[in-house]
Amino acid sequence: MTAPVLEVTDLRKHFTVRKGLMRRRVGQVFAVDGVSFTIAPGETLGLVGESGCGKSTVARTVMRLIEPSAGSIKLGGTDVTRLSRREMRPFRRQMQMIFQDPFSSLNPRMTAGQIVAEPLLVHGVATGKAAEERAEALFAQVGLRTGQMRNYPHQFSGGQRQRISIARALALGPKLIIGDEPVSALDVSIQAQVINLLADLQKAHGLSYLFIAHDLAVVEHISHRVAVMYLGRIVEIADKTTLFQRPLHPYTEALLAAVPVPDPKLKRRRNLLDGDVPSPLNPPPGCAFHTRCPIAEARCRSETPLLHQAAGDHHVACHLR
Ligand code: SF4
Repeated sequence: MTAPVLEVTDLRKHFTVRKGLMRRRVGQVFAVDGVSFTIAPGETLGLVGESGCGKSTVARTVMRLIEPSAGSIKLGGTDVTRLSRREMRPFRRQMQMIFQDPFSSLNPRMTAGQIVAEPLLVHGVATGKAAEERAEALFAQVGLRTGQMRNYPHQFSGGQRQRISIARALALGPKLIIGDEPVSALDVSIQAQVINLLADLQKAHGLSYLFIAHDLAVVEHISHRVAVMYLGRIVEIADKTTLFQRPLHPYTEALLAAVPVPDPKLKRRRNLLDGDVPSPLNPPPGCAFHTRCPIAEARCRSETPLLHQAAGDHHVACHLR
């Protein structure tokens, strides 16, 4: 079996909530509470859940933009969880991130060409003419004209700006790209173009992706496996076909019910999801989904279900499935 590019084990990120003049500790938010997964070379893992379920915290913690409270993050077999900023530097080249809003993640005072070439200069990979030529090649790879390299971010459309972000992410030849809702801010037709581009780049470079979205429809095309998160935990993980055709967790079923049906003659599944995600500051006891679950029973309110193997690589955290 090929060694995973990324191996995340029992990752936790807890934030202390303080209040008042004395910054009194009033509680803890369990933003990520024991998340484990692996991503193989050339594989895309889709990570899905509603806003506030901890997906972005997983992404930022894996990137070491924020420090984990516990657990381990292995990149290509090396544990990078406790490395210092300096020790982390060579590993930064191996994983890059694309953000939801390309406008706020691109420096408005730099030209698109400078933005794409910047990582090459910062990491000492190329300078001068060599950096410019590499930036030109990256522009071509993401479907932008090299003539656009002198333009500033505000002169591009949203989809084009995300292409610039992708070119910048590719500059250092990473093994893993983490996309934190990379298409959520784009029109549906543009979303498809960007997803197709990411799929083509994956084939060309053997890239692995952690692709985060709040909507299962978005991850369907690009993912090989999908993990569903609810209030800081993975509640179901399976290969894409299994998850879409034979979901087991009531939350996954509810998210699937919200996916638009392409054929109007097909009966739309009943929308099962009522209310909002409960506050992670005061999560419900037992199964965190019990306040919205249509099949919850008494023990769901007191016993926390663990992620268990339902079949093969299909794992689910539910007492009844
Ligand atoms: Fe619903 Fe209970 Fe399963 Fe949680 S453990 S998803 S509340 S049935």
